[in-house]
Formats: sequence, structure tokens, C-alpha cells
Amino acid sequence: MQTIQMIVFSMKRHFFQSVSIMLCAILCMSVLATPICADAKEPVVVVLDPGHGGESEGAAYNGIFEKDINLSVALMAGYYLSQFEGITVYLTRTDDVEVPLEDRPKLALDVNADFFYSIHFNASDSHALYGSEVWVSAFGEYYTEGYQFANILLSNMSSQLGIYSRGCKTRLNSKGTDYYGVIRLCTSYGIPSCIIEHCHIDNGYDYDNYISPEILQQMAYQDAISIAMYFGLSSKTLGLDFSDYERVPCETPVRHDPDTTPPDYAIVAPVSADASAKTATVVINALDSNSSIKYFSYSLNQGKTWSALIPYGGGPIIVTLPLQRASDTITIAAYNQYDRYTISNTIDPIP
Ligand SMILES: [Zn+2]
Repeated sequence: MQTIQMIVFSMKRHFFQSVSIMLCAILCMSVLATPICADAKEPVVVVLDPGHGGESEGAAYNGIFEKDINLSVALMAGYYLSQFEGITVYLTRTDDVEVPLEDRPKLALDVNADFFYSIHFNASDSHALYGSEVWVSAFGEYYTEGYQFANILLSNMSSQLGIYSRGCKTRLNSKGTDYYGVIRLCTSYGIPSCIIEHCHIDNGYDYDNYISPEILQQMAYQDAISIAMYFGLSSKTLGLDFSDYERVPCETPVRHDPDTTPPDYAIVAPVSADASAKTATVVINALDSNSSIKYFSYSLNQGKTWSALIPYGGGPIIVTLPLQRASDTITIAAYNQYDRYTISNTIDPIP
């Protein structure tokens, strides 16, 4: 039933030399054009959808093509999932080929899938964003199920791998339906779905810490574990039993709209300053009543240049910032989970 196939990374060669044997061992074990495991009476059926492929490269940075790492992670996640009892896994592609967008949810419909997971990596125009996020349908029970899975995955990614959580999000098109085609189609077929953006390949922090064969493998493991937790599966092989796992409660909205407005406010106030050490201690406060705050950055020159984004969950915090000169001012920008920002007042920490 299983086909064996080598997957060739087109990431930079030297990047993979140190761990090629380990990775190859994993990838050679199972490739999943056909169901990889179906041993229980009524198995859970999931579809893993490695985004892009062929001419569609997805995000690209530093010799890394998103389509390749999407495929690697999906294959490895499929391999780990196949170690659980009572699950059948399909992949929408097992090669570097272009699969039309509409064919991907169609496969999920054809195999009567219980959930569709699109596997992606992210990039931003500014290269400043970092972290993982999960996009889900905005509608009813599809939102609820997407949110409940996202909650498991994002907390596993954060607690096990340290990847910053940018949260669970929805996006609508101009017609007021789900923006992303795979999600919109899955919802129309009655199948819960999500798009997993594992991290940002174009950000220095995420790239240095997570874009390596070892961590990609661990991400795939967390994808698989999270799917297994969601469905309450067990694996004798892996020694894992999630049969008692309970999903977090989540209301079922008619439509969970994305946040299209910036944070309500951002404020900075002086606490103390050390002119000789060139540091200023300040209170930062920001609130977004529609979504949540995810980062702040600061400017020492009234917004001409800004620091890198610093993790920040909103509310009052006290931070000590390095100054360059005694005449520096401090201004804060608070970002919400939809990357909209509000700029604060400006203070003169060493008047
Ligand atoms: Zn993508």
C-alpha cells in the first residue's frame, strides 16, 4: 500500500549535510499518496496539504523555498501521524508538483475527511514579523473547530519549540466569505480546515532558530501530536495516549470577524532614567479590545527609525530601554495580532 520515494530538498545543500542521514531515514519510511494507516473500524481521516509546489514557490528567502519545507514538514507529520491508531492520512501532494488550489479541498471531500490542514511558512514585506499563526474559517462550527485545533497547536509550538504565537485568525474577502480558497472550499464541503503558518522564513530570529532540518522535524512532530490530541488518539509505538484530552471550550459565532482596526491606545510614561548608563525605565500600556496585542517597538527619534518588534501581550509593563544619547525621546508602537499598530505619545526620559 505504501510507496517509497526519496524527497530531494532544493534548499541550500550545505544547509542539510550535517543531518541528511537522519532526515533521509525519516522521509524514506513513508510517502503518502495513498492512505498510510487505516486499522480501526471508523478511523479519523485527515488531509495534509503541503502548500504551493512546482512553479508556485511560495515564500522564498536566503535560498529557502517555502514549497520545499512545506512538503518536508507535511511528509514528516504524515509519518508521525501514521504511528497513531485509528487514523488515515492523505497528502495532496508528495512531490514538487503544482496542485490546483481547488483540487486540494476536493481531495478532502473525495476521501470524506474529518479535517484539512494546509501546511505553510510565512514571510512579510518588512521581514520584521516572527512567530506562528493559524488561519481558520470565520463561520460557525468551522470557526470553533479551527480555533480548538489552533489553540492546541500554537501552545505546543510555543511551549515545546519556543515559537512565538501570533494567534488564531480569520480573514474575509469582499463578498464577506472566507478569504483563503482552501478554507472557503472546505467549509462549503462541510469539512473543518485551517492553514498553519509555522513561522516566518524571512525573519532573522525565526530563520536562525527554526529553519533547520532538526527543528522542521520537531515542528512536524508537533503538528502530528496536536492533530492526535485534537482527535483523542493514542499511539502504542510512541507511548502516547490522548484519549482523555479535552478541547478548550470555544463559543460558536455566526461569524468571527477579523480585527480591521488598530489597537485602541498605546501609552508610554517615564519611571526613571540613568543618564550615565544611558538607559530609561518606562511604563508601556496598550489595549486592543477587538483582538490582542502581540508586539511593541520603540523609537528614540520620534518615529524616524524603529527597533525590532518585541513580544508584548498588552497591558501595563515596565521596561528598561537603552538610549543612544541623553537627548533621545521615546515613542512606542503597539501592534495587534493583525499587524495593525497604534503609535503612542512621545516622552523625554532625561529632560
Ligand atoms: Zn504559503
